Amino acid sequence: MSMERHDTVEHDILVIGAGGAGLRAAIEAAERGLSVGIVCKSLLGKAHTIMAEGGIAAAMGNVDPDDSWETHFKDTMKSGKFINNWRMAEIFAKEAPDRVYELEEWGGLFDRTPDGRIMQRPFGAHTYRRLCHVGDRTGLELIRTLQDKVLHTGAEVYMETTITRLLKDGERVVGALGYVRETGRFVHFKAPAVIMATGGWGRIYKVTSNSWEGTGDGVILAYEAGAELVDMEMVQFHPTGMVWPPGVRGILVTEGVRGEGGILKNSRGERYMERYDPEKMELSSRDVVARANYTEVEQGRGSEHGGVYLDITHLGPEKIKKKLPTMYEQFLKLADVDITREPMEVYPTIHYTMGGVRVEAETGATTVPGLFAAGEVAGGLHGANRLGGNSLSDLLVFGRRAGIGASEYVKANGYSLEVDEDQIRQEKERVLRPFENPEGGESPYAIQSELQEIMQEHASIMRTEESLREGLEKVRALKERAPGVRIEGSRMYNPGWHTALDIHFMLQVSEIILMSALERREQRGAQWRLDHEGLDEELGKVNFVARKGSDGEVEITTREIEPMPEHLSRLFEED
Ligand code: FAD
Repeated sequence: MSMERHDTVEHDILVIGAGGAGLRAAIEAAERGLSVGIVCKSLLGKAHTIMAEGGIAAAMGNVDPDDSWETHFKDTMKSGKFINNWRMAEIFAKEAPDRVYELEEWGGLFDRTPDGRIMQRPFGAHTYRRLCHVGDRTGLELIRTLQDKVLHTGAEVYMETTITRLLKDGERVVGALGYVRETGRFVHFKAPAVIMATGGWGRIYKVTSNSWEGTGDGVILAYEAGAELVDMEMVQFHPTGMVWPPGVRGILVTEGVRGEGGILKNSRGERYMERYDPEKMELSSRDVVARANYTEVEQGRGSEHGGVYLDITHLGPEKIKKKLPTMYEQFLKLADVDITREPMEVYPTIHYTMGGVRVEAETGATTVPGLFAAGEVAGGLHGANRLGGNSLSDLLVFGRRAGIGASEYVKANGYSLEVDEDQIRQEKERVLRPFENPEGGESPYAIQSELQEIMQEHASIMRTEESLREGLEKVRALKERAPGVRIEGSRMYNPGWHTALDIHFMLQVSEIILMSALERREQRGAQWRLDHEGLDEELGKVNFVARKGSDGEVEITTREIEPMPEHLSRLFEED
């Protein structure tokens, strides 16, 4: 193959991902006078962040004056079953209110209390009413505000461009190679610091609330560059996704419905949460409600289409349309159900990935020099289960911190951005291989859908050693087949080719999840092993770490969690 040409651009900081985390990081770095490039797979303004509905969690105490950072910290740790990075949780709880007020200063509009303060709604396992929101369109407002701000900083945006590999000079990350989706042309991004902000990997499952972008590119780009990943077994099943008709299965039904008073019932009309969490009922943590919904259906008390019922009719049409306009339209248009008159049918859907790249709490630095990470792609803050609303504030708090961390790193380190051309040549060859493979090779879509079926069955809401092992064997078999996929046509906007590249990331992240889930032999938050009863005290003291071993294979080890300092551990004493 002749040496493919490429374009070259250079920035002080390259941000990969234009969701809330990437944009917030870019703003911070650009405001410090650095040249910033932002790359995203879709158009600016897409990403999962814009889909966020229910709200941003921050202990502002606007509605419940007793709220405090301490309570938010405790709720986050308890719901994460104490394997969270407590330092991240502390920073997070303390800084989230400032980040929301800052958003307001930049033009973000929120729903208001009667006396004009930012309104806060209740959400699962938050002690107080804590979620700042704009109806059920909070993510849209967040992205709109950050986008306006970032475009005024001079940061440059490279849309519809996919990064396929990080480039290194020795130990340091010094840029990335990507291609423009429309033309297929390669671009070498040179940058002394890279911030990974690519979001999660819900798309490795068949039933998910995530969009096509959530294929786990960033977490694997980081892994392949040598970064450590933590607690990859922790994948969140949101209790309520749509069930019917089949084409919409998995689309999110916001927790805001339960926050506004929605009640879950089975086919017998029983309010069954009384049996699973009589105290918090529908507003128990997501792992608990998801398992309850799953169990009701398993035990034959499901709805017509294999879900359970979520009823909000008692709120009345006016309030429903004001507080839950997206849900009202979504059900009317997609399912022909008027939620002001009938209950919704819902079932758990894969929603969020708690695991991710291991970062330093203060700076977002990964274990590889020059590489930073923030947002859903990073691990640690949420432990074994994320609280609703805690992601949007995570993006703002740690996006900002990664922006500062990367800026300081760049200012302190002067060095060359050259990479050995072999890295680039090899990557181009890998990326173009699907065109070169012999005719009759497999379709990438077949591998993608087989993988989604495997993960749905084997890395599910309930797990056993046997099933995880079987899943792992199947994923490894697919991994063998994947390099042989064959693509027809040209490099000009070719979805088959994009999929062929996605499956590389999807397969690798799936293998890691299954391996990690095999190792954590207990029931903790989202990791629910049916062959091990309850929490294991010893496993509560460790994170599972995945890294690429010297033989190129996945290596899973444990890493001890440092004990909490006194000023934090004392907060739990009264409980
Ligand atoms: P994302 O917003 O997912 O952005 C990722 C970016 O990375 C995109 O720009 C993408 O194009 C880019 N990218 C990915 N791979 C590549 C690549 N290879 N090359 C270049 N670019 C790449 N959380 C809450 O706190 N409250 C809520 O109410 C809430 N509601 C939600 C509703 C839905 C339907 C969903 C799906 C999620 C919701 N969440 C909510 C979760 C929250 O929205 C996400 O966790 C969060 O938005 C992730 O933000 P991010 O910036 O990390 O990544």
